[in-house]
Amino acid sequence: MLTSNGMTRVFSIPMRTRFRGITRREGVLFRGQAGWGEWSPFLEYDPEVAEPWLRCAEEAAARDWPAPLRSTIPVNVTVPAVSPERAHGIVLAGGCATAKVKVAEPGQTLGDDEARVAAVRDALGPDGRIRVDANGGWDVDRAIGAIRLLDRAAGGLEYVEQPCASVEELAAVRRAVDVPIAADESIRRAADPYRVRDLEAADVAVLKVQPLGGVRACLRIAEDIGLPVVVSSALETSIGIAAGLALAAALPELPYACGLATVQLLTSDVVVSPLLPVAGALPVGVPVLDDDALVALSADPGRVAHWEARLAEVRAWRAAVRQDGRS
Ligand SMILES: [Mg+2]
Repeated sequence: MLTSNGMTRVFSIPMRTRFRGITRREGVLFRGQAGWGEWSPFLEYDPEVAEPWLRCAEEAAARDWPAPLRSTIPVNVTVPAVSPERAHGIVLAGGCATAKVKVAEPGQTLGDDEARVAAVRDALGPDGRIRVDANGGWDVDRAIGAIRLLDRAAGGLEYVEQPCASVEELAAVRRAVDVPIAADESIRRAADPYRVRDLEAADVAVLKVQPLGGVRACLRIAEDIGLPVVVSSALETSIGIAAGLALAAALPELPYACGLATVQLLTSDVVVSPLLPVAGALPVGVPVLDDDALVALSADPGRVAHWEARLAEVRAWRAAVRQDGRS
């Protein structure tokens, strides 16, 4: 049993609100020679997609991370597609100098986005930075019009994240507007950042350590593609967020706030001091696991069995690929 040796635990934590279609965040925590690592690929991912997530957890458990160049990482507050009044309150409560505002929400209008962005500017003051995230919700023409409008409403946008779904569309929008473009959903697999670079589709790359195979893998990607990087989370516990912070701390340049302030989306956490932002920043370092909290957040036996089977599948996939590589 993975759970009985004390080295591997399966957690299941309710989300505060439904996010990405899920209401509970599940995953595995590994204890390696030097600490804990998190493996929490989303449930629909097959072994091939989930394998880099495992490399990230193994790297973390071995604490095989490069030396940090900074001790705190600025982070953004995230404003969902809420009313202007709620958006204003979220920004004030967040205490961050950068806000990421969700736009292009199905069922809402561009006028809703404009009002939300204006409310965020009002709450942030003139020195705050505003980025918007369309999650691929616009076509090229709508994106060009929306970006110009929202840039005015914001008094200047820092960048627009994933205005359209495809890399080709990002490239077309980028050629038409002055606001920088960031690629997020277009970067899921290790080869994706190179395609974004080759098509000149973005000015900024959003990188997540688990899907891309860990901190060192992301550092190599960042160096290869030559774009500024915004490190973002995959809705991890603080154990997983620490790996994202290790990447943000090791990047030679970090011109933008990172999207790592997400543990508040979970109702609970597995560490003694959850990684919540203080004065708009998170500390670089290794959080201390809270054993009592982890016991309370343990998955039920059925889910533990599911994750054990999943882990076995990923390891089998990995072994098969290595076998192929030798033959
Ligand atoms: Mg995004």
